[in-house]
Amino acid sequence: MSRMIGIDLGTTNSCVAFMENGHAVVIPNAEGSRTTPSVVAFTKSGERLVGTAAKRQAVTNASRTFSSVKRDMGSDARFSVDGKQYTPQEISAMILQKLKADAESYIGEPVTDAVITVPAYFSDAQRQATKDAGLIAGLNVLRIINEPTSAALAYGFDKGQPCKVMVYDLGGGTFDVSILDINSDTIEVLATAGNNHLGGDDFDQCIVGWLLERFREEHKLDLSKDPMAMQRLSEAAEKAKIELSASSETMINLPFLAQGPSGPMHLEATLTRVRFNELTAHLVTATKGPVQQALQDAGISASALNRVLLVGGSTRIPAVQDEVRKLTGKEPSRDINPDECVAMGACLQGGVLSGAINSIVLIDVTPLSLGIETLGDVFAKIIDRNTPLPCQHSQVFTTAANFQTSVEINVLQGEREIASANKSLGKFRLNGIRRALRGIPQIEVTFSIDTNGIVHVTAKDLGTNSTQDITISGSGNMSREEIDRAIRDAQRYAAEDRQRKQTQQTRDAAESMLNQARKTRKKLKDEDRSRLDASIAELEDALKDGNEQRIRTASEDIDRILRSVGTYTSAPEGGNDDGAYDA
Ligand code: ADP
Ligand code: MG
Repeated sequence: MSRMIGIDLGTTNSCVAFMENGHAVVIPNAEGSRTTPSVVAFTKSGERLVGTAAKRQAVTNASRTFSSVKRDMGSDARFSVDGKQYTPQEISAMILQKLKADAESYIGEPVTDAVITVPAYFSDAQRQATKDAGLIAGLNVLRIINEPTSAALAYGFDKGQPCKVMVYDLGGGTFDVSILDINSDTIEVLATAGNNHLGGDDFDQCIVGWLLERFREEHKLDLSKDPMAMQRLSEAAEKAKIELSASSETMINLPFLAQGPSGPMHLEATLTRVRFNELTAHLVTATKGPVQQALQDAGISASALNRVLLVGGSTRIPAVQDEVRKLTGKEPSRDINPDECVAMGACLQGGVLSGAINSIVLIDVTPLSLGIETLGDVFAKIIDRNTPLPCQHSQVFTTAANFQTSVEINVLQGEREIASANKSLGKFRLNGIRRALRGIPQIEVTFSIDTNGIVHVTAKDLGTNSTQDITISGSGNMSREEIDRAIRDAQRYAAEDRQRKQTQQTRDAAESMLNQARKTRKKLKDEDRSRLDASIAELEDALKDGNEQRIRTASEDIDRILRSVGTYTSAPEGGNDDGAYDA
């Protein structure tokens, strides 16, 4: 049986978990970290880097490094490298591919199925794009679920008393607050609110702004146009911010930040938590509106909350925790690592779907209202925001002009009364309406949303039964052909990655063999030694040349000679440390 994983595909960090003996277990990546930066880079030599390796070289390779791509999911943004354009889905798929590969090597079994989480505020197009990214990465996406729901699952609320829970999730790029109603066998999201552009990155930027200002005062130089300096500043800012979660002041030290007329310029600064709190107070306060909105939509007051969960790395900031206490009057729970609970919950949800765990049934809600455009730029709501999924609603409309035989249905998502102020998810035309005076034809428009939040719209003329429908895949999304091509590309890259790894292993083994041979040759009789020297020269040459087959053949020759002269015991499995070869 192949394995299932839960994936938190985050704006800044991603995390993956799997089920082991009925528990969700976070899988460390190949580098040993429990979360993986959601960063993809293309080196000048054409190699693709994902995660920490990509983040680490972001300074020197800024124009070929892509981060926070999640913010562009569902849009028609493109990322171009070497004349090739990548969609946000394709870049996200590269992250997912790494998570999948790391999970497979950790579990030791192939992984095919996945549950992937998205912010509760994600629109239909963004959900669809996330699903497509999974598909491109070779994953069978069992379900797209909301991050707060996932977090609540990780906290094991399904097993407890009925209660109302607030999930306050402040990550790297998004803020979400959700009110959940948890009963013995259901978790219902009563309401969600948030801000797609509020997160830890903004806190970093406040520190960067402060540093820029100090540098300008001291050196009379504006660094904001220097990408290299800016990258270093924002990395230093994030580091300082993280340190300030644990201590009351931190040193920022950036030598050689710029070249001035009288030599290199350095930046040194001490930032206190008090100053940091002042610089970022407006960001912390900005979470208040969505919190109140969510409570209001859920129809409860903060005092009715039984628990408040802190999710997302930025909830480690003390001022953020204080704000949550202030807003809710509750001491928030943070027993589970806030960066990991979403992936753990996704994995538990996968367990439910695959029947490995029983009990809980999840009910998600649609994050924004849906409807169509009617005469006079008026938005006619068909499904209200926060309606539990899956759902289906119909409404009957009519024509605006006499003898109108077709209507255009403009599917909209948003909360504004004015149609054009909302986001158009797609348009389609219903033809074949019976000729009649305006106001006579009856056109039934039906919206249905499945459990993944994917929208399907049908329009039907009740007079002629003429029907037309669309499944929404927002403008920025990819067609089936584009997805198929991306899947093939992704598979090819996976094969290339495997090949590269194998070549590296062959080289590593050859280098070890060479070391062993060089050490041994002194102990040999003349004729054995000259035989060995010839093979050593051949292997050295092969390594320079880079031909894998030649390297392998030359290594085998040396291996044979060493065995025949009896000075060699093979290294333990996987060992390429010199010492391991010593007889
Ligand atoms: P996302 O889900 O948006 O990818 P995460 O939940 O992983 O984000 O949170 C990432 C954010 O959390 C980053 O901005 C990071 O700097 C911040 N962060 C991580 N640890 C800390 C900490 N100890 N103190 C303050 N911020 C932190
Ligand atoms: Mg997150």
